[in-house]
Amino acid sequence: MSIWFTEKQTENFGITMKVNRTLHTEQTEFQKLDMIETEEWGNMLLLDDMVMTSQRDEFVYHEMVAHVPLFTHPNPENVLVVGGGDGGVIREILKHPSVKKATLVDIDGKVIEYSKKFLPEIAGMLEDPRVDVQVGDGFMHIAKSENEYDVIMVDSTEPVGPAVNLFTKGFYAGISKALKEDGIFVAQSDNPWFKADLIRDVQRDVKEIFPITSLYLANIPTYPSGLWAFTIGSKKYNPLEVAEERFHEIETKYYTKELHQAAFVLPKFVQDLVK
Ligand code: SAM
Repeated sequence: MSIWFTEKQTENFGITMKVNRTLHTEQTEFQKLDMIETEEWGNMLLLDDMVMTSQRDEFVYHEMVAHVPLFTHPNPENVLVVGGGDGGVIREILKHPSVKKATLVDIDGKVIEYSKKFLPEIAGMLEDPRVDVQVGDGFMHIAKSENEYDVIMVDSTEPVGPAVNLFTKGFYAGISKALKEDGIFVAQSDNPWFKADLIRDVQRDVKEIFPITSLYLANIPTYPSGLWAFTIGSKKYNPLEVAEERFHEIETKYYTKELHQAAFVLPKFVQDLVK
């Protein structure tokens, strides 16, 4: 008899998937953590019954969070990831030779521990000498940082529980302070089908702080609606004005320099959210 996991993406809609076995489950200090082996998507991390990442489609999200800002900035050396305990964004950051240090601050050490154990191809670079892994609240880390980072990536859970503060205007103001004078940040910003208000509010808040603010999209089949949004805020460099020579060779499965541009071309109903 097959077991199925369903993520309710709204009160009235969800996705369901066949589960071969549960690899680990526990209630951590911050959230319910499940690591399951699915038939379709391989091993998958769930937090509070929400899909975080899977072996089969993780590359889309991790490449798009990392490479858009890292190719936009002409010389990214010091990078911060807020959240990101599965290690996928760190793996992508390290493909950029200019990066000297990548700091990861995730509030839940158990996510890091079990990602290393069950998602080695995603978490495998967390031990790299250029990486500084800290277990702590990203909101507090940002609050005590000033003029330090070239690029900041917010790879957090949904704006509930421990991540609720990571979608506030105060947090984005803190990010601006933590960035250098030509810094760039990207934040995962959920989806335009079910979270239009969130996207509209985040764009409004970020526009009041960053001179260059935009939204780009990617297809992530295991995330709510499959259409995922990323907010970018930049103090100086425009993500759509990247010099051709900046695009050095890197190994990717989704990101390309053409897609870097195309991802910012929005469907009409999404354009209306960011006006
Ligand atoms: N790609 C996923 C998405 O878009 O929903 C996010 C994956 S990553 C595993 C999310 C991480 O955010 C979790 O490991 C969680 O512990 C972390 N997190 C939530 N709130 C946080 C906070 N205030 N400070 C640092 N990390 C936080």
